[in-house]
Amino acid sequence: MSAYQIKTLEDLQTWRKDLSAQNKTISFVPTMGALHNGHLSLVKEGFKHADNVIASIFVNPTQFAPGEDFESYPRTIEDDIKKLENLGVQAVWLPNTDDIYPDGVQSDIYIEGVSEPLDGEFRPHFFGGVATVVARLFRLVSPDVALFGEKDFQQLQVIKKMVREQSIPIKIIGVPIERDEHGLALSSRNVYLNDEEYKIAIQLNKVLKNMADGHLNEIAAIDKLLEIGFDEIDYCTARNSKTLGTENPDRVFAAVWLNKGLGKTRLIDNIKMK
Ligand code: AMP
Repeated sequence: MSAYQIKTLEDLQTWRKDLSAQNKTISFVPTMGALHNGHLSLVKEGFKHADNVIASIFVNPTQFAPGEDFESYPRTIEDDIKKLENLGVQAVWLPNTDDIYPDGVQSDIYIEGVSEPLDGEFRPHFFGGVATVVARLFRLVSPDVALFGEKDFQQLQVIKKMVREQSIPIKIIGVPIERDEHGLALSSRNVYLNDEEYKIAIQLNKVLKNMADGHLNEIAAIDKLLEIGFDEIDYCTARNSKTLGTENPDRVFAAVWLNKGLGKTRLIDNIKMK
């Protein structure tokens, strides 16, 4: 089945009004493209919650800091559209930068608390950019339900807090992490890994699992990651999944770097504690 490709805000509004007129519900899956089975699991879950699924593909400039990989971020639009069509997605929205940022590319929302630790500390621009783009996408699509991956667990908490704080009437659903056959969390950035790095990368989930099972504490887990060959560890820590603070930890979180290939690759992962 071919999906309706929406390329202008006028088309988006017409599509949205038609569905409202037919009393149809909408699940929304925002993505930055380079789609893999993780993204597709969000789409599949979306069909369980609404009549229609719309996915957006937009590499959001405000969540990249200068020097990060905005320009080189993988862009595979034609393949992405085919994958979405194969799942029966009714619409794919391909916004351009002016649609989202008509008055200039900058963030205007910051969600306090959950945006601050972990990735908030190491990528201070990131959650402001994410909250800004998601709020704008939400206003334009006005879905009933939106789906986000637990791969980006902190991002999921930021979005949940944003919809609560801003009284946005959209149900947010978190979807479990999709992994490859070696347990590596799927990510569009995994294409940056060379063979040597891949062999190291697949150890990350094993160390986190050992930590989640209580066999390694934080210091031992960081030592282990460095011994395995990760080049830098931003964090590897047990946190509370709601507050992301250190009290009452129930989930382990890590962000690590591999610098052995052509560029530097940052991997994140998280696992629920026993
Ligand atoms: P991105 O295109 O990286 O912005 O991701 C779009 C959505 O897909 C986000 O909600 C991510 O959390 C989700 N996602 C990315 N990778 C995975 C994965 N391996 N498993 C589940 N969801 C994922």
